[in-house]
Amino acid sequence: MTVTYEEALQKYEPVFGLETHVELGTTTKMFCGCPTTFGAEPNSHVCPVCLGLPGSLPVTNRVAIEYTIKIGLALNCSIASWCRFARKNYFYPDMPKNFQISQYDEPLCVDGYLDVLVGGKTVRVGIERVHLEEDTGKSLHIGGATGRIQGADYSLVDYNRAGIPLVEIVTRPVPGTGFLAPEVARAYVTQLRDLLRSLGVSDVRMEEGSLRCDVNTSLSPYGSDVWGTRTETKNVNSLRSVERAVRSEISRQAEVLDSGGRVIQETRHFHEDTGTTTSGRSKEEAQDYRYFPEPDLVPVAPPRDWVESIAASLPELPAARRARLMSAWSLSELEFEALQNAGALDVVEATVAAGASPADARKWWLGELARRANDAGIDVSELPITPADVARISELVAAGSLNDRLARQVIEGVLDEEGTPDEVVAARGLAVVSDDSALLSAIDEAIAANPDVVARIRDGKVQAAGVLVGAVMKATRGKADAARVRDLIMERLS
Ligand SMILES: [Zn+2]
Repeated sequence: MTVTYEEALQKYEPVFGLETHVELGTTTKMFCGCPTTFGAEPNSHVCPVCLGLPGSLPVTNRVAIEYTIKIGLALNCSIASWCRFARKNYFYPDMPKNFQISQYDEPLCVDGYLDVLVGGKTVRVGIERVHLEEDTGKSLHIGGATGRIQGADYSLVDYNRAGIPLVEIVTRPVPGTGFLAPEVARAYVTQLRDLLRSLGVSDVRMEEGSLRCDVNTSLSPYGSDVWGTRTETKNVNSLRSVERAVRSEISRQAEVLDSGGRVIQETRHFHEDTGTTTSGRSKEEAQDYRYFPEPDLVPVAPPRDWVESIAASLPELPAARRARLMSAWSLSELEFEALQNAGALDVVEATVAAGASPADARKWWLGELARRANDAGIDVSELPITPADVARISELVAAGSLNDRLARQVIEGVLDEEGTPDEVVAARGLAVVSDDSALLSAIDEAIAANPDVVARIRDGKVQAAGVLVGAVMKATRGKADAARVRDLIMERLS
């Protein structure tokens, strides 16, 4: 028996939670001076500390503490006045010390929230904790078909990532979102990513692994006061996958429960290709890790005045920005959300700053440019066109030198790296025909060729003029200003 997503949600209430790992954009690692740049020759950014050699001693990176406090403040958390690092003991080949320096019962930031906008409504997602730890290295499994350890001939380990500062942001369980659970989960990660980007603490590139999510999902029958057993889907590495992982776990767990089975608390792996999860290992309990306070590091006790100065230095946060832009651009919540979900807020704001009207800037970035970005499978902000280019194109349209059709060709030229909008207009000869005498001869031809249409217009059916406008646009290969053509036609026939 297969349970559909809709059937599952008629019987069960989904509850999800997210653990998000963010690699901080510090120039050096968490406890040593090794550089953190991505993509270097394997094992070239290592030293005795991050390789865990005997006798080496870690020293805490002050900037990493500052960035974590920034994140905590932006998520409305309380900042601990005193906390410690803890050793999390487990063996894994990509972790050279055989323990990870993390935080356990004394995290740096606790008890905050993020207000997430979904479908025009605000959902408050509680933040349980934000703590600081170090990243592991990376294992590469060679010889298998899937890149996984199963079927591989051998594995290689790259320790460049070992010791990069990693912040873990843990939500409280989020109940009560029903059918919207997958969308809310995705919107949370999207808006958290935007927040982190605005703070300048991480490059938040999911494709390079600097933002990674684990998604917890559980189901309980409606009316039950006990939450169901949760599973943890690991390393869900795109926004779309966050949504799909929640959706797929809801369907899978409903099927288990409906057939009288029991959901097992376990780690599951998400598969991009099928959009489903498969069983991993049974979930460890905290006691399995033998946590104890890290003896090689002094406690962290950020002075109040330092925390206050960090709070004062925070940039405009997304909620404030949302209020400001919705008012300045007269947007509804849904219109704002569309911009946000398209990842177009920054570029639209920059385009407006470069002189375009908010309506024009939104039109181009959410229309033609969003379509092209989607075709290319990239973010709209990654297109090789600048907000200044888009502002210039809007200006040319507003001045009547380009119509929308020609403007789209200018965009195409800029994206093909033919130059600035003005260079593309010159090189491709894309200016609107504004010379009335050239237009008039085309208009006269259209009038002569369509006597029946002319008769209807003279009869008062002015909408019939569209046929003549179309004929003139065709004759000028779309280079005429349609409004001007219509005026000239009406003048001619009056
Ligand atoms: Zn190092």
